[in-house]
Parts: sequence; C-alpha cells; structure tokens
Amino acid sequence: MTETWQQALDALKTRLDPVQFETWLSPIRLAEGPEGTLTLEVPDEFFARWVRDNYLDMIKDAIWDTARCHVGVHFRVGPARPAVERPAETRPESGADPRGSEAGPGLGERLVPWFTFETFVVGPSNEVAHSACEMVAENPARTYNPLFIYGGVGLGKTHLIQSVGHAVLSRFPGMRILYMSGETYVNEVMTAYKNDRLDVLRHRYRGQCDVLLVDDVQYLSGKDFPQDEFFHTFNELYNAQKQIVITGDQFPSAIPKFSDRLRSRFGWGLIVDIAPPEPELRMDILRKKAAREGIAVPEEVVAYLANRFPSSVRDLEGALNRVTAHALIRKTPLTLDLAVRVTDRIVTDRRGRLTSDLVLRTVADYFQLHVSDLKSDRRHRGVSLPRQIAAHLLRKHTGASLQAIGQALGGRSHTTVLAALNRIEKVVALEPTTERAIKDIERQIGV
Ligand code: ADP
Ligand code: MG
Repeated sequence: MTETWQQALDALKTRLDPVQFETWLSPIRLAEGPEGTLTLEVPDEFFARWVRDNYLDMIKDAIWDTARCHVGVHFRVGPARPAVERPAETRPESGADPRGSEAGPGLGERLVPWFTFETFVVGPSNEVAHSACEMVAENPARTYNPLFIYGGVGLGKTHLIQSVGHAVLSRFPGMRILYMSGETYVNEVMTAYKNDRLDVLRHRYRGQCDVLLVDDVQYLSGKDFPQDEFFHTFNELYNAQKQIVITGDQFPSAIPKFSDRLRSRFGWGLIVDIAPPEPELRMDILRKKAAREGIAVPEEVVAYLANRFPSSVRDLEGALNRVTAHALIRKTPLTLDLAVRVTDRIVTDRRGRLTSDLVLRTVADYFQLHVSDLKSDRRHRGVSLPRQIAAHLLRKHTGASLQAIGQALGGRSHTTVLAALNRIEKVVALEPTTERAIKDIERQIGV
C-alpha cells in the first residue's frame, strides 16, 4: 500500500496545480487500516470532507492508473498538523506566490491595537451593542450567533467588532480569529478566483477559523460571486458552531442588492444597533481620550466640542485632534477661543470627506497666504510650492479628480495638476522641510 500510495501521489503531483497539491495532498499521511483499503490520515474533519468532495475521484483514478486495482479509501482525522505547512523541499520558488508562500491568501487584516473594550466608552446609545459583544467574546458561539451590529458612520462599529477579536484572543489564546472588512473579503475572493486558489481560501475561512469578524458587510452589496462564497462560508462556520460577527451600515433587510438567504441568516442570532452618541457620552469620550493621551482639556472646550459634533464619534475625535494639534504647533494654550476658531473652519461634505475649502484655507494659513493666492497665476516659489502642496493634499484626502482639483485651484487644467503632483513628489523626496510642512498641515486638518 505504501508503494501504491507513493506512486499515486507522484501521478497526482503532475496532474494538480502545485498549490492545490501542497494544500490538500501533501498533508495527508498513510495510516494503518484494514487490509486492501487505503486509510488516509488528515488534519481535521473539514479537510477530510474537502478532499473527499474534491479530490477523491482523482485519487482513485491515480491508484487505478498505477496499481490497476480498486481500493476503498477511508479518511481518519489524525494528530493536529498544520494543513498548509509545506516541507521545505517542495516550497514553491520565491516569486511564485506574490503574497508570500508562507501566508497564503485569506489571512484577513490586523486588529488595531487600541480598539479594545477597555478604550470603548459606554453610554445608552451603544450599551446594548457593547454588552452583546462582551457576551459573545466571553462565550464564542454559545450566545448570539451570528451577532449583527449596524449603525451609521463613525459610531464605533469597527472599534466594537475588533474588541471582540482582542477579548477572545486574550481569554482563549488558542482560538483563531479572522477579521476583515467586506472590501478585503471581496478582494481576497476575487484574487483567489483569478489565481485559481479558491480552495485554499475556503480552507482558511472555513476550516481554520473559530471566530469570523466581517466589518462593513454592505461592501458585498451587488457583488454576487463574493456573496455566494460568503453564504457557503457562513453555513460551514455556523454548522461547525463557530462564532460569526458582522457589522453593516443598515439593518440587514435594508442593505440593497443583497441575497435574501444571506439577509435572513444575518437575523438568526441577534441584531443590535449603535445610535449616535448622547451629549453625556460625547463628553465622556472626549474626557477619556484626553486623559489617555495626557492632554489637559478644559471642561468648556469639552462641552463646546461635544455640542458642535453631535453625530459621529469619529468627527468628535478628529475635532479634538485638530484643536490639540493647533495648540501644540502654535505653542498656545488650549482655550475655548482656540477651539472655536479651529473648528469653525471644519467643513466636511455629506460623505464625511474634507472639503477642498478646508484644505485650501489650512494651506494658505500655514504659509501666511490668502486662498486667492493659491488660485492665482503667480509663479513665485513662495506661492507655487504651497499650491503644489494643496494639490497633493486635495488628491490625497478629498478623493477629488484631477479636474476637480484644477477647478478648486483657480481653473487649472488636469495636466497642470498632474505636473504639480509629480513635482511635489520630487520636492518631498529632496526636501525634508517640505515633507514636514505637509505633515504639519495634515495634523492641523486632522487627518
Ligand atoms: P464605525 O466603524 O462605526 O464607522 P469606528 O469604530 O471606526 O466607527 O469609530 C470611529 C472612531 O471613534 C474610532 O477612533 C473609535 O475608536 C472611536 N469611537 C467610537 N465609539 C467610541 C466609544 N464609545 N468610545 C471610545 N471611542 C469610540
Ligand atoms: Mg468601521
């Protein structure tokens, strides 16, 4: 049998894609079993099912080709062995896998270190979501599964879902957490599909994950293939009693262009919302953030900011950042007057992006110019450099097109803007002072 198996493996190696071979055939060990049968030891149940569904016919063919005999093939789950660990000699040459052969696809994203329950401030608008997350983290897959959190932009969804990841990791160090945004999920699925590596990805998501955290699932809206993949991943994990936590910007049934079968599954566990923060919570968040960063912020500034930015914690934090940065850079005390002056200029558009107005005013201020100078035809370096910096910042932070940037800068053509962007890149590479100026301005804008 040993010889038969080895010959079959050699044949399979020539027939299969190397990655598939290493992922699904290499980890298999031949084990002792009943006479005349092939007993194969695999790392886990999922692996067994996957190989049975996808490779069993091929294995049988290969055995037939080499030994000309029919054998029964049995799978047995053996001692834990990482399924994708490859023997050194069969590792693909470097460069064969652009994502790094160690990692393979589907590792998700890193958790932000400070998005933990410890730094999350609780108030009436988020306490239900918060305690649901805590319960899930204390007892993964035993309370609410899936847990679906929905709410508007900047209200703490990402912070909470990542807190679950951190808390699970610290309570159950052996558990495997997979965190990713809907956008990353879609990219990973499509990349795996293009490279014919979907099975590797599926194994990662479905077989090597105890807690799946998917942030901003609305990104899958209208994307049928990733939704389909997600549907199957969801089912596998759910049936295997693995915890799933999902966030979205709306109640599941309200997310457009989403398959009904997914929407309904999102409601199988618990759906909770996060509402905009109450005034008291806003002040609380500001005080705790200031305390954590060791900045003394007068109560009247706290009250003013909390009142000025009612609808999103992100805006609230951004405003505090800007005000403290101003005080720091200008070496002036952090007063109510300063807070009013700084935040007076903060104007973001409906999608929460910076407006070009704010960028231009901050750049002009920084170089002690008028906004009209930036829009003028003056070519003096004292004006043209700030203008190039403005173009750079507009491009980087407002998502504006070259045309729109040209418009904002006094009706310049998009080729002029492109030239300015190229020039500023070279200048930054050569002049640390310019780079520093850009960083200072960014800090003032609060990005
Ligand atoms: P969302 O994902 O809902 O758009 P985030 O989780 O990214 O929002 O939150 C935006 C910012 O506000 C983050 O920096 C986060 O740490 C902070 N934040 C939100 N809610 C709270 C809270 N209750 N306590 C502390 N910080 C919070
Ligand atoms: Mg988020």
